[in-house]
Formats: sequence, structure tokens, C-alpha cells
Amino acid sequence: MNNNPVKNIVIAGGGTAGWMTAASLSKLLGNAINVTLVESDHIATVGVGEATIPTLHLLHDLLGINEAEFMAATNATFKLGISFENWRDVDKDYIHSFGYLGRDCWACGFQHFWLKGLQKGWVSEIGDYCSEHLACRQGRFAVMPNQDRNHAYHLDAGLYAKFLQSLAYQHGCQRVEGKINKVNLCPEGGHITSLDLDNSKRIEGDLFIDCTGFKGLLIEEALHTGYDDWSHMLPCDSAIAVQTKTVGEPVAYTRSIARESGWQWRIPLQNRTGNGLVFCSKYMTDEEAIQTLLDNIEGEPINEPRVIKYKTGTRRKHWNKNCIAIGLSAGFIEPLESTGIHLFQRGIVRLLQMFPHTGINDSDIQEFNKQTEEEMLNIRDFIVLHYHLTERRDSDFWRYCATMEIPDSLTHRMALFKASGRIFKKAEELFGETSWVQVMLGQGLIPEQYHPIVDKMSDDELRAFLEKIKSHVAKKVASWPKHTDFINHYCPANDKDTREQQKMQA
Ligand code: FAD
Repeated sequence: MNNNPVKNIVIAGGGTAGWMTAASLSKLLGNAINVTLVESDHIATVGVGEATIPTLHLLHDLLGINEAEFMAATNATFKLGISFENWRDVDKDYIHSFGYLGRDCWACGFQHFWLKGLQKGWVSEIGDYCSEHLACRQGRFAVMPNQDRNHAYHLDAGLYAKFLQSLAYQHGCQRVEGKINKVNLCPEGGHITSLDLDNSKRIEGDLFIDCTGFKGLLIEEALHTGYDDWSHMLPCDSAIAVQTKTVGEPVAYTRSIARESGWQWRIPLQNRTGNGLVFCSKYMTDEEAIQTLLDNIEGEPINEPRVIKYKTGTRRKHWNKNCIAIGLSAGFIEPLESTGIHLFQRGIVRLLQMFPHTGINDSDIQEFNKQTEEEMLNIRDFIVLHYHLTERRDSDFWRYCATMEIPDSLTHRMALFKASGRIFKKAEELFGETSWVQVMLGQGLIPEQYHPIVDKMSDDELRAFLEKIKSHVAKKVASWPKHTDFINHYCPANDKDTREQQKMQA
């Protein structure tokens, strides 16, 4: 399609997506390329995106990021899962933790053993068989040598972008200040040749990464790539965000509290709490949403509530001609399972794996877009599950969610789990068996059968097996320090005011 070698990469936009891309490409491709990032000080970043999932380790390892240094620089706390409150129904809560449940066997997951235990009345809640789940509830945390790192972080988005920016500079990335006024296209092939800025600069490049946020200045406004709208199955289209002073010790999980026409997040950092209300404008006005959020926060607000509008869905192609969309420009599922930053990182790693150093060709583009689409659809289905599989009928919003049309792929997964307790994960999928099991059980879907292999164990053997796992988990978690003590020892915030606050709380 374009046989020019790719040497000059231009990143448009300097939010989380832009700086994450800049740090990764400049560090990992080194002298083979030149990286230039263009951003405007006069166009604000969206400024949210503070809860992550454990896959962030993969990128941080590639970038050689020291965990304690990164956490101290971004006021970060640990995250072991998400607490879903009022989702199944009002006052019915569950946790989706990042850990593994019990012990699987070759034929089936742990849930099958637990299900037989449930029928016999021998088990407690499934989270008692998972260290990360129990640690959430007990406020404990530890990073053990040789242990799976099933933890993520809550971080300050602004400080994280700065942290990545300094990494990008260390590896030769250039920043150009200016507002992009025009995207110039090649008259023959229609690919992007350069960006014109409001200060009369022209930035030329071989490959352009669109990180300009929702508007998709390059991928959509210039290349008209198209957008698949998912708002009929993910109807929330607005969010209010406000930060508050911290009250009490930070918990090691994100709180997601379902409200009348959406849900509220609470993300604890070392120095403050991030709060937000995601809602559907068809059922709630901005004013009602602000009031609902302010009525349900702990601690004094430290900024004015901000309204953010969006449309859930995905760009039809994430790679179009010589432009790749990374960040909100690529689409937005919604923040319920904190998958935004994960998707940025996947786009970056995929680009590195398929880097078109000798020229851009259609087969790379097709493969990139196919893998991205599969990944997006899996995440979309998982998020839709939370809304659809609910017993709530107490508002128009929840009645809509419970009865709305859902994708066949999700209908199939729910039917399979209900009939047999089975979940199968495909290669490009993010969410595995333990995630689906925790959310389906948490939302009230109990399988009708367990796998027959469980019956190979005698009743005594099964009871002993279940008991052993549970007591091992309880003992292990009891030996971990309190989450706050661990943070204060391992990665106290660099910021002096935050450290003073921590001392007063201790
Ligand atoms: P932006 O932050 O919007 O950055 C866009 C950049 O482009 C800015 O630097 C701007 O200056 C620049 N720009 C735009 N136009 C121009 C122009 N004409 N000229 C020059 N520069 C320009 N993700 C998670 O992983 N976890 C979460 O908990 C999470 N919560 C979210 C909650 C909400 C309500 C929303 C909307 C998103 C959330 N996300 C979350 C998704 C995502 O992580 C964040 O939104 C993230 O901050 C988006 O970054 P971005 O870089 O794509 O866009």
C-alpha cells in the first residue's frame, strides 16, 4: 500500500494515551525511529482514568518501570478487584477480584467443585477460596516474591501522564506545542502527510498516532473512518467527576455502586479520592446527576464537578491508512471494568509487534484490526453482562437494561454457563473464566449442573479439598500486612503534603 519505510512517527495528543504511546515507542524502538508528540496546552485532557487492571504490569515491565517509584510518583494505591454494590439488586453486593478461584482441574474450573459444595451446604461464598478476594474484604495486601501479580493500581491520571512524559523524554521523544488546525492528506492515496499547527508549524511524518481523545481529529475528522455505536446496549452516555479529600484508609479495590440511572465510582488514592457518576442522559439530567453524586460522596470536594459526554462504541478501523487510533479516539466502551488504559496498552503492543518498518501494507492493517475487534467485542459483552443480568426493576433505566437486546455472543455465554457452569476463553479475549464466573454468580446466575468429574471425588474428599483451600487462603491473607501499612512502607507518595496526611492517619 505504501512502501516508504516508517521512520518518523507523529503522535497527536498528550493525554494518558499519547504519553503512554510516546514512552513505549521511543524506549522500545529506540534509534530506529523518531518520535514527535504534538499537544496543545489550551485543550485540556479528559483528566479521568484512574483505575487500572493487572495487565498494566506487562507494559511497565517492558518499559523497565520500578513499581514503588511509579506508585510514589502518582500517589497510587493497590487494587485487587472491584466491589459491585447494588448491581444484582439493591443491597446485594459482590466483588470481582483479580485472583484465581480455588484450584481448577484439567476438565473444568473450580466453580464446578464449589457448586457441588453449594448444593450440599458445605461452602461459604466463592470469594473465600481466593486470596485477592478475601484480602479486599480484610484490607490487607502484600507483594510476595514468586507470586502471580494479580494486582493493579489506582493512580492520579495527571501525574501518570507526567511520569510517562519524563520517560519518553529520556528516550528522545520530542514535544511540539501547538493546536492542530489542519490535517493534510495525500491527494492520491488519501493518507496523512502532515499536521498544520496554529503557530504556523507543519509536522510531517510517515505514521500518525491519533491520541486526540473523543473527537478523533485524525482518524475520524480527517479520514472519516466511521464508528459503531453501542449505546443501545451500553446506554450510559455521560459522567460527572469530582475529587474529594480522603476519609479513612484507602481500600484496595474500586467501588462501583449502582444508582437509579447509572453507577458511581470511588477510587482511593494516597492523597485524595476520585469520584464519579456514570449515567444515562435519557433518564437523568446533568443537574440531577451532580446532586446524586454530591449526596453520595465522603469527604469535602476539592474541585468543581465536571460533566463529560461520550458515546459508547468503537471506531470501525483502529488502523486506517497510515493512522492508528489509540485512546479515546479509538472508541470507548465505558469505565465499569477499568479497561480503557488496558486497551491503549494493547494497541501499543500490537503496533510494536506489527511495526511496519519497511512500509505499511494491507495485511498488517487487516490483522491489527481483526485482533482489536475481537478484543473489543469480548470486553463489550462482559460490560453489557453487568447491566443486563440484574434483578433490579426499580427504575426505567434498570428496566431498560434488563430487557434490552444483547449480542448473540453474550446470550450464548450466559446460556452455556446456566446450563453447565462452563466458560471458554478465546485467544484475544481479556476476561477469563474466573472473571466471568465471579460476575455471573455475583449477578445471580447459578448454573443448573456441575461437571460430572467432580463426582469422582467422594463426599469426604470433596469436603476436605474445599476446606483445605479455604483455610490456606485465610491463613495466607492473615499473614499479609494492612494495605495502608504496606503502602506507607513500600511506596509513600513523593508529595510532602500527602506524606504528612499519611502520618496523621497512622
Ligand atoms: P484525552 O485525555 O482527552 O487527551 C487528548 C489529548 O489530545 C490532549 O492532550 C489534548 O490537548 C490533545 N488534543 C486534542 N485536540 C487537539 C488539537 N486540535 N491540537 C493539539 N492537541 C489536541 N480508563 C481506565 O483505564 N480506567 C478508568 O478508571 C477510566 N475511567 C474513565 C472514566 C471516564 C468518565 C472516561 C470518559 C474515561 C475513563 N477511562 C478510564 C478511559 C481513559 O483511560 C481516560 O479517559 C484517559 O484519560 C483518556 O485519555 P486520552 O489520552 O485518550 O484522551
